[in-house]
Amino acid sequence: MGDILALHVHGYRVGLDTKDPDANINFVSHAHTDHMSGIRKNADIICSQITKELAEVRSKRKINAVGMPECMSMLNAGHMLGARQLYIESEGLGCSIVYTGDYLIQRSSTSEPIEIRNVDVLLMDSTYPFANIVFDDREETITSIERYIQYKSKIGCVVFGAYSAGKAQELISICNGIGIDPVVDGKIARVTEIYNAHGYRLSFQESDANSSDFGSSAMIVSLSSLDYMKAQASNRGKQVFTAVATGFAKTMRFNTDIQFALSDHADLEQALDYISQAAPKFIYTYGQNAATMAKNLKAHGHRAQEFDVRSSAVGTHLMLANNAGPLLE
Ligand SMILES: [Zn+2]
Repeated sequence: MGDILALHVHGYRVGLDTKDPDANINFVSHAHTDHMSGIRKNADIICSQITKELAEVRSKRKINAVGMPECMSMLNAGHMLGARQLYIESEGLGCSIVYTGDYLIQRSSTSEPIEIRNVDVLLMDSTYPFANIVFDDREETITSIERYIQYKSKIGCVVFGAYSAGKAQELISICNGIGIDPVVDGKIARVTEIYNAHGYRLSFQESDANSSDFGSSAMIVSLSSLDYMKAQASNRGKQVFTAVATGFAKTMRFNTDIQFALSDHADLEQALDYISQAAPKFIYTYGQNAATMAKNLKAHGHRAQEFDVRSSAVGTHLMLANNAGPLLE
């Protein structure tokens, strides 16, 4: 998220998962690095307790978490453990606002189920705005992953490249479900310990990638180590099958033996489902595909517009939206 995304509410400037030098407070929706740029020296942060713990381990910085202003609260986002949406009830603006951050409608076994509340104005993530990208039921995808590991483990080891936080823990959970304690690298192990401190029972073996003998049926390493691991394995004459499990498997070809489209985001159909439950009067889309998302939401009869990141007069935009003014066309 390179662009600045911020809201003016009750005299606050609230940075939303963004590096905004003028923000009074910074909302960090979850502990993925592309959403953690609000974390900097002396910055006041609002986030969930779990995100604070995960982000501190990942960023190796102390986070100055402050209390939530009275007009704000958080809703589960479903995307990964600790992920939250920001709900703002603004008397000043005369409307309620939800900023979704990354969100997942389908259920993941390693995150809290999403909460959707009625809202006037929705600031909606646009990662997958395309009608032709449709995610399968997660259970089906998970079953495919289980079968693949079981089949390949008879002759070798399956090595997954995954985000250290979120996807790696879900893959550990999938492996545990078929009786395997996967080998993970140190980064993933530290994050998983926080999951376990919050009630999960994820079972894994930790190994330094350099000393790994590929003896386990499954390994999970950071995405950036996957090529290195592949080379290590072939140097040692081991049968290794590389894999990724990400929604981008629908749009990109990865240099792995197999790719599974296990996404922690909503597809367009699921975004529309969110909208029908939240019933917003107006939707602002943000992110790389914001323009496409706004266009597709309009085609489905919704009032939607790409969030104008260059405008600092966000409050004015929202007031106009709420009063069904000329911005609504
Ligand atoms: Zn994320």
